[in-house]
Amino acid sequence: MKTVATGLAYFVRRQAVQNLRLLLLYCTFLVTMVVGYAFLFRYLMLHLEGREFSLIASIYWTITVMTTLGFGDITFHSDPGFVFASLVTISGVVFLLIFLPFILISMFVAPWLQQSLQYRAKTELPADTRGHVLVFGLDVITRAFLRKLEGRNIPFVVITADHDEAFRLESEGLNVICGTATDAAFLEKTRVKASRHVVANLNDPACVNLCLTARALGDRPITVIADDPAHVDLLRLAGATYAIPLSQILGRYLATRATTCGAMSHVLDSFGSLVIAEVPVYGTPLAGRTLGQARLRERTAISVIGLLERGAFTVPRPESVLSQHTLLLLAGTREQLFAVEQIVSVREVEDMIFILGHGRIGCAAATNLDQMKVPYKLIDRRENPACGRHAQVTGDATNLGLLRGSGIDRASGLIITTNDDNVNIFLTLASRHVNAHVRIVSRSNGEENVDELYAAGADFVVSNASVGANILANVLDKKESIFLTEGVGVFRRTLPPRLSGWTIAESGIEGLTGCTVVALERPGVPEPLTTPPPDTVLKAGTVLVLIGSPEQEKRFNQAFQ
Ligand code: ADP
Ligand code: ZN
Repeated sequence: MKTVATGLAYFVRRQAVQNLRLLLLYCTFLVTMVVGYAFLFRYLMLHLEGREFSLIASIYWTITVMTTLGFGDITFHSDPGFVFASLVTISGVVFLLIFLPFILISMFVAPWLQQSLQYRAKTELPADTRGHVLVFGLDVITRAFLRKLEGRNIPFVVITADHDEAFRLESEGLNVICGTATDAAFLEKTRVKASRHVVANLNDPACVNLCLTARALGDRPITVIADDPAHVDLLRLAGATYAIPLSQILGRYLATRATTCGAMSHVLDSFGSLVIAEVPVYGTPLAGRTLGQARLRERTAISVIGLLERGAFTVPRPESVLSQHTLLLLAGTREQLFAVEQIVSVREVEDMIFILGHGRIGCAAATNLDQMKVPYKLIDRRENPACGRHAQVTGDATNLGLLRGSGIDRASGLIITTNDDNVNIFLTLASRHVNAHVRIVSRSNGEENVDELYAAGADFVVSNASVGANILANVLDKKESIFLTEGVGVFRRTLPPRLSGWTIAESGIEGLTGCTVVALERPGVPEPLTTPPPDTVLKAGTVLVLIGSPEQEKRFNQAFQ
């Protein structure tokens, strides 16, 4: 099936390349004709009428005559000249005004129209399809999720009810089938019973209907993204295995990163007894010291496995300086983490947070700040009808007078959470200009604006698409990987058998893939070994905990799996 889709995309591309070549050839012919006529014009003018024109003027005359504009500022005054001018006009009409549009339409517009008219979307998968992930509702989040599936070679099928969308997606090379998600007969044809997982990002009522219909057909796991956290229970009741309240998760994420309370609350995940946590240096006594001076390992036995500075990951070294923008990535036991919390819980900054944008995510951030007893101000250009709990200043946040008047220059943290990335970038830049020390955390709606937000001065950026896709991938993997920040994650892999008996350095895991081995879970040993030295010998059955970018994770999969 994928081959048919890929074949179609390939055919469309090949045909387009061929047509483009023909068009280029035709344009070359036109240019040659114009230049030829221009030389002829010069010659005739000189010999028939004794007037001399430059090459530029001759080309100008040819073009105005061929396009039938004929300004009349340069004209012949003799009969042979009139005959020549008429010939140029006629060839202009034929080659430029008739043939050229004809070629453009027949080679580019008509084939595309014909293909889309003839296109019949698939409405069913072959009966023996199995192990596929069914994806309902394609948006930035599910698209980012599909890229993860591709990276892991997991087959997937996108379902859409819109025939035109199916054509567009198939032309992109995606495997698509067209039908109504809530139609049981159609769902049967998606081979849902034999699927690996069903993932849906539709509106909540459509998800409820889909869950009920799919549940009646079998017990495959179903994960849905809930628009409204209040609908999570309903979705579970309808049959969803996981209902993810994404805006609530993002709101909490942003709130814990904007405040000084974040350090204690951000355990990213745990693999057995190994806890991976993130501690912002912001507002703690560690700020301004080097990692060596902080002596975290000596004081708590915890391992620092990485440093994140405005989204960039670095391997920790004793001389690495911890700034207000640094996030420490730690690996250890819960007891060790607790010991770290005692050190960082001494707060040196008074929290005063501004939340710009009171949509679902902004509202969830405010609820989290309420729970943490952190004072904040909410600004939105309109009231949030779904929220009766939070007081807000109503006005456009891009109005700098309003921001200054609300005291943004005294804010300790700023959560930017409008649904418009341009506005988010603008607000980041404007707030950084007014308040050099404020901790800015921003949401990025598309993954492509993350770099711009960092460049504008954000301390922490999180994109809906990455977080959503990562949560979906984790559900699929049963938590085999965790999301640290844009572009960096922790993932687990069982040691490939051919590497057993090698040391970490010899194995090439770090050298070949760029990943860092942050911990080893050894068979029969209850405590994980964190930050193992390069000469550690890898034994069969060991589980590697690795840190790396999605690209590095893919390289690992290609090299060792
Ligand atoms: P979500 O629910 O995903 O958070 P919404 O679209 O509901 O997304 O929320 C975005 C919020 O940002 C809306 O309440 C909108 O009014 C607000 N917003 C967008 N632009 C501005 C702006 N320039 N100033 C103030 N608020 C804004
Ligand atoms: Zn609210």
